[in-house]
Amino acid sequence: MKKRKVAVLGATGSVGQRFVQLLDGHPWFTVTALSGSERTVGDTYQRGCRWVLPGDMPEWARDLPVLHSEPGMDAEIVFSALPSALAKTVEPAFASAGYQVFSNASSYRMDVDVPLLIPEVNPDHIELVHQQRKRRNWSGCIVTNCNCTSTGVTVSLKPLLDTFGLRRVFLVSLQAISGAGYPGVPALDLADNVVPFIQGEEEKLESEPLKMLGMCDGKRVSAASFGISAHCNRVAVSDGHMVCVTAELEQPTSLSRIVDAMESFAPAQSVQELPSSPHQVLQVRSESDRPQPRRDRGKGAGMTTVVGRVREDSLLHLRYVVLSHNTIKGAAGGSLQNAELLLAKGVF
Ligand code: NAP
Repeated sequence: MKKRKVAVLGATGSVGQRFVQLLDGHPWFTVTALSGSERTVGDTYQRGCRWVLPGDMPEWARDLPVLHSEPGMDAEIVFSALPSALAKTVEPAFASAGYQVFSNASSYRMDVDVPLLIPEVNPDHIELVHQQRKRRNWSGCIVTNCNCTSTGVTVSLKPLLDTFGLRRVFLVSLQAISGAGYPGVPALDLADNVVPFIQGEEEKLESEPLKMLGMCDGKRVSAASFGISAHCNRVAVSDGHMVCVTAELEQPTSLSRIVDAMESFAPAQSVQELPSSPHQVLQVRSESDRPQPRRDRGKGAGMTTVVGRVREDSLLHLRYVVLSHNTIKGAAGGSLQNAELLLAKGVF
């Protein structure tokens, strides 16, 4: 397959760096352009970017110039890691100029004609792209991935919803520092501390999973109808968002059937074959003290969702803990997988 040219917008940030790292040696994509803010435009990527990921900045990226975030880049696909306020105007400008935009920002996630996509969960929602192009008169498109805390929660709820139905879900998150971007939360707020508030996060966690778990008729999505209540907390962990889940099922069942449903959850063959898809979508651990961010966030190169402590709940039916790597499956890796899916399905 001829490699497609891709640009990364916001390439100097927490998610942008992850894109650059994951695109190194990607079999389908080659990076031709990187963008940043006024702070870094005009520099080379090596000079403008304070590389904070393990390992070195890929060699090919070092001398690429940091560009303005505007159409005109030599690329077909655009991965956006821009702040939402900026994405609001920049992403449509690219989509209307014919670029296929894969966004991590929240600006368009809940729009009726914009897919909010996790390939293992709702691949059929890509149909919305045709509607979007028609309605907005775009030759490109915008496809979004969800807020990084919603990712693991949604992947783990999917087999439960499909097999037993869901009535109510209560969530308590323990979110990593990298989720706040770079430089993110000041050290004096974070060290020896837990911050029990993340702006806008609870609202996203209470709405985005319902869109992704809803039914798509090709034109719009009817959101799933169960209730979600969420508390969000920032904790002093570098990467990996953990969420404690308590759920009430439509059809109460045994723990072994719940674990079976999660362990046997497998996406369509076409999704499994995407270059960024993990070998195992959902791993269920049986130890009493797993998952843990430091030990389990790297499972499936950061693309596997890890569940543990599946047990009965004294008030509702079920409790468990779920962990997902926020900048890989929850952001850059998920976005690459979305682009791979649209390409494999011939949407562009
Ligand atoms: P970040 O570390 O703050 O990075 C923001 C990036 O946007 C930087 O490259 C920055 O460039 C660039 N930027 C800022 N203002 C700009 C401007 N006026 N013009 C052009 N570029 C500008 O943030 P992040 O955590 O990577 O998040 C990026 C997006 O992904 C956000 O919408 C966020 O909500 C979403 N997201 C983040 C995560 C996560 O785990 N971090 C997960 C899912 C989704 P300079 O460095 O050159 O200033």
